[in-house]
Amino acid sequence: MTGPNQPPYPVRDFDGVPALVTGGASGIGAAVATLLMGRGARVAVLDRDPEGAPEGALALKADVTDDAAVRSAVDHAAAELGGLHVVVGNAGIGAAGTVEDNDDAEWQRVLDINVLGVVRTDRAALPHLRRAAAERPGQVSITHTSSIAATAGLPQRALYSASKGALLSLTLAMAADHVREGIRVNCVNPGTADTPWIGRLLEQAADPAAERAALEARQPTGRLVGAGEVADAVAYLASPRSAAVTGTSLAVDGGMQGLRLRPA
Ligand code: NAD
Repeated sequence: MTGPNQPPYPVRDFDGVPALVTGGASGIGAAVATLLMGRGARVAVLDRDPEGAPEGALALKADVTDDAAVRSAVDHAAAELGGLHVVVGNAGIGAAGTVEDNDDAEWQRVLDINVLGVVRTDRAALPHLRRAAAERPGQVSITHTSSIAATAGLPQRALYSASKGALLSLTLAMAADHVREGIRVNCVNPGTADTPWIGRLLEQAADPAAERAALEARQPTGRLVGAGEVADAVAYLASPRSAAVTGTSLAVDGGMQGLRLRPA
């Protein structure tokens, strides 16, 4: 984990708060789980491959494409942690190619994970969140991990971008549906974040070190985003400090989307 979220953590603003992070056994999700625990939360990690879940988290094996498994993992997490106040819908996979490169089966496979996986998690969690909202107004939230791909028009990412764009719209619609229930819904849009996912992509290159350097050079900041830096944004959106924030997306992308830099 890189970025400013190394222990010791400055605040314990999640003391006793029960939280669920999907895809929390690796990368951004693991950084979120670690950060929330460091700030006092009780955390369950739902992952199809939960071995990498951070120490101290309740690790639950479930695939977000399996509605019954998601429901049972979410209910189990709520029973073990004493309810659910924070949900982070983060599990997702990548997909490369133009719209012609992926057939229907591949579109359905990726959308099933990246979009419906989040829908299934939220649907299972909402009854628990509703109960929590009565007790802790302002501290009951859902945060989705969308992507810069939702807003930037990246080449060779048609399917992935469509999946993350759907999460952006889902975030807005859900924020409207649940605002009067005291449940906030937001998303983070990471840029290229230094996680095992990016590591796997780089390993496929002929020269991974050169490919990493080229990737870094394309970032306005000259470096990749740290998983811990994305986690910091998620923690803000899940904390009472953002009690007035709902239906928004927070880009953590080193300026990738917003800046128009002149070539050096
Ligand atoms: P990662 O591969 O390191 O971690 C993803 C985790 O999700 C893994 O633990 C994996 O087992 C889990 N997962 C995947 N499919 C699952 C399924 N069907 N059911 C349950 N768990 C599943 O990836 P990461 O880089 O940490 O990405 C996390 C999220 O951030 C993803 O939604 C991704 O789209 C998004 N994101 C990543 C980047 C980046 O550059 N790394 C940029 C923008 C958005």
